Amino acid sequence: MRRRDVLRTAGGAAMAGVASGVPSLLGCSERPPAATGGAAPAAKDKRQLVLDLLDESKPPRYTPAAFFIHFGEEYQVGPPAIAKHTEYFRSTGMDFVKIQYEAGFPLHPEIEKPEDWARMPLHGKEHYEAQVGVVEGLVKALKKEALVVCTLYSPFMLARDSVGAERTIKHIEEDPEAVKKGLEIVTESLLTFVRECVRVGVDGFYASTQGGEAGRFSRPGSFRECVMPFDLRVQREINESCLFNILHICDYDLPYDDLSPFLEYPGDVVTSSLHVGEETLTPKELSEFFGRPFMGGLDRKGIIVNGTAEQIRQEVHDVLVDSSDRHILGADCTLPGDIAWENIRTAITAAHDFRG
Ligand SMILES: [Zn+2]
Repeated sequence: MRRRDVLRTAGGAAMAGVASGVPSLLGCSERPPAATGGAAPAAKDKRQLVLDLLDESKPPRYTPAAFFIHFGEEYQVGPPAIAKHTEYFRSTGMDFVKIQYEAGFPLHPEIEKPEDWARMPLHGKEHYEAQVGVVEGLVKALKKEALVVCTLYSPFMLARDSVGAERTIKHIEEDPEAVKKGLEIVTESLLTFVRECVRVGVDGFYASTQGGEAGRFSRPGSFRECVMPFDLRVQREINESCLFNILHICDYDLPYDDLSPFLEYPGDVVTSSLHVGEETLTPKELSEFFGRPFMGGLDRKGIIVNGTAEQIRQEVHDVLVDSSDRHILGADCTLPGDIAWENIRTAITAAHDFRG
């Protein structure tokens, strides 16, 4: 299914309205659902409400919201992971299911020199089996009522975690051609994971990128040479195969001073920090810049973590008045794991109430 053709025009600057009959609200490999009686979507049909954001022929009537946390080691695989994600989704009232990727990538300390990257092993389906099992379980449990999206770290992020941050940067700057051979292999491994998730019915991915931050590389051009091409291979594939993808420009490690390279990245929704260089932009400005709905607005370490309910509601209100009509309330990155879920629920409810 090439839903790009029906949900958006090419070029990133405009979202094409579909004059009639959005062809499918289902994910990549879903069969038609059981009959629902043909009634108009109920207010709680979160799949439809989120997808409506991408369709300019539909007037915005709802502000979705979602926040993410890691659940701790005991909830990373198997039934405990599925149960915890489900509990969190229900408790917070968020509008789509976002699955944390906890499978990591094997460590390869034997990669000591740039030329060693050519020997990066290719990891197959078996490496991803447990993580795909969590995706499959959550698709079965929750896809009928909400989009199910899985976190995807970029080839650069996985390679860096596998080989070591300092060493990876050093090798890229010394001999980019040699490192690219390894990044090719990491990308192939990652695409195996992507295809397995698509096979079990995921709706899309929350695709994180790092490497384009200010000061990440000292040699100009390293990001465009050794990070971006691999990002784009993955992002173009998910864009072709899935219904709903979020591009996350992650500032967890470092801030950005230029977001323009990411205009070339696909992704139905973009999420990033509001801070770019010396400036703090509004969500509306970022949505206009990217030509797509923006997700975010709240500081992951701010009011949502330590504010009162009233302060949280006020903060959400202040964010949403500066947002475009097609906005998803969220934070700039993952929230602290020990945050009170009640705070998250308060923020999400405030977003839902914003349009009355
Ligand atoms: Zn992030």
